[in-house]
Amino acid sequence: MRKISRSSHLAFSECMRKGYWGYCWNGTGLADVKKATPLLIGLAVHKGMELLLTGVTDDTALMDGIEAEWLEHDGELKEFKDQQNLALAKALVLGWKRCRLEEFLNKFDVLSVEKEIETQLAPNIILQARADCVTRNRWDGTVWVWNWKTSSSISDWNDQWTYDIQAMTEALAVQESLGEYVQGCVFEGFYKGGSYGGVSTSALVTGYTDGQQWQVGGKSRGSDWRKVSTWLEFPGGTPQWLDLIGPSTCDSYVRSAPILKDDDQVRDWLRQVIRKETDIEMMLQEEIPEDDRLVFFSKNPGRRCKWCQFGPACWSGLDVAELPLEPRRDHHAGPVPEP
Ligand code: SF4
Repeated sequence: MRKISRSSHLAFSECMRKGYWGYCWNGTGLADVKKATPLLIGLAVHKGMELLLTGVTDDTALMDGIEAEWLEHDGELKEFKDQQNLALAKALVLGWKRCRLEEFLNKFDVLSVEKEIETQLAPNIILQARADCVTRNRWDGTVWVWNWKTSSSISDWNDQWTYDIQAMTEALAVQESLGEYVQGCVFEGFYKGGSYGGVSTSALVTGYTDGQQWQVGGKSRGSDWRKVSTWLEFPGGTPQWLDLIGPSTCDSYVRSAPILKDDDQVRDWLRQVIRKETDIEMMLQEEIPEDDRLVFFSKNPGRRCKWCQFGPACWSGLDVAELPLEPRRDHHAGPVPEP
């Protein structure tokens, strides 16, 4: 029986070798010891949204919960950039609360938040999914799956998600679990901004001051004005800063149009998934020699190799067992038990 997830299938779709080493090798697959910063920010924002939508609305409690999540995932806070990224994750959630929570709860009933689901795709394949949030529209009763996406690029936001068939597969899993029709998905974007000289460009954590007055972004208005990290220097920190900048906070959020689930497309895609995952399962049988596996789990070289953790094994002749990686923890299965 193979258990697959949206991320494992995505890895196999990008590069079979990456999928094999990342999700199957030696029983668990291999993952980075320290999570990449974008992933840490994403995990922290997801935790904040989970808290918020399950009733934790106090700013301090939210920030504490987000920080605890960051530290649990090996996030470090030694350097300024790490502290700034954590501050950004906190500000993104607190800002969403100020800009969108009320409107969201007026329009939708929350049916579930970060709920684990398992759906049997075929006798030998189970899809594990965790929908960020499932809601029912209070006016027409339709059910939608929400995806929180932290991003440095929010241009053409609808186009980024229109063909995200894997998200639709999760919507299908929710549909089976709920026992009622799921209309489709909505993608809520949390804009992280960029970085200039090591300082975030997000108005949620960076502003300008002349020592008396404070302003959002833009150029400083004379030599007395300087750029500041508001999460560090603004009196009262991020909560007070967001209250001061008011509507400017809301520029950091973008919502896709509702994207309908096309059941024929999803079914067609699932047939492909089942075929591919069945072949993968066959190649993972004990009796298959590793050399044969490596032929089947072929490399798919490209620009992606530049950022791939398996690059040294693919291109510099290192043994994959010697890479500075650790056995993958299955986040669908909860914490890894102590040995
Ligand atoms: S380095 Fe490239 S070819 Fe090798 S596993 Fe990664 S993506 Fe695939």
